Amino acid sequence: MSPAPSKDPAAVETEVREKIHLEILKRTGAYHSNDHILLPSGHHTAEYIEKTLVTTEPSFTEGLGAVIAKHFAPWPVDAVLSTGPAALILSHCVARAHPSRPVLVYGTKGLSGGKRRVSLPVEFQRLIRAGTHVLLIEDLVSSGTTLNLLISLVEQLGAHVVGVGCLWRRTSVEFDDKPVFSLVSRDFPTYAPEECPYCRKGVPLNDEFVRRRAHRRPSSVQESRPS
Ligand SMILES: [Zn+2]
Repeated sequence: MSPAPSKDPAAVETEVREKIHLEILKRTGAYHSNDHILLPSGHHTAEYIEKTLVTTEPSFTEGLGAVIAKHFAPWPVDAVLSTGPAALILSHCVARAHPSRPVLVYGTKGLSGGKRRVSLPVEFQRLIRAGTHVLLIEDLVSSGTTLNLLISLVEQLGAHVVGVGCLWRRTSVEFDDKPVFSLVSRDFPTYAPEECPYCRKGVPLNDEFVRRRAHRRPSSVQESRPS
């Protein structure tokens, strides 16, 4: 079947690129599709991505990081800022491939007075200051909360946010006027059990991911939360 002739070539290119990247993520074992999966929220879905597995194949991560770096290559970047230690592997690959040879730093997440906050380790503070051009990198963007907090932090320091690069983001997530580049931009439809089409068809429910979360040590729960 040939593509519809009215389709914008740039949109076709994006679609092809996303398919390739999705296939790469599938090969790491992080992306599951055509399943009937129980989510921690109690909703059901046919697709799922496991954050802990997305950067387990070094050569894939390097390739994907280079694609993000290439996208941001026209902009000078002084520092690549990882949203946290979990996104550091990807962030390293982006920083390594960017022509500006940026330094690599990361934020730390925490809670303060019951509110989520992010901060920069004190050792990094001289690397991000007035006039620094910062590229933010995250692996999977779900709500964008951490990134929005980091953007505010960078701007409070007088530094300039060049953009946000990520492997995956939910289509609806935007960051004001900041350029966002995601290798895959995708939403999973999720269903309440009573409205789930897979339940209706009698497809067995896969509760593997919820069971796995329940077995994690409490100290790792925070790191695995969607950001
Ligand atoms: Zn269901």
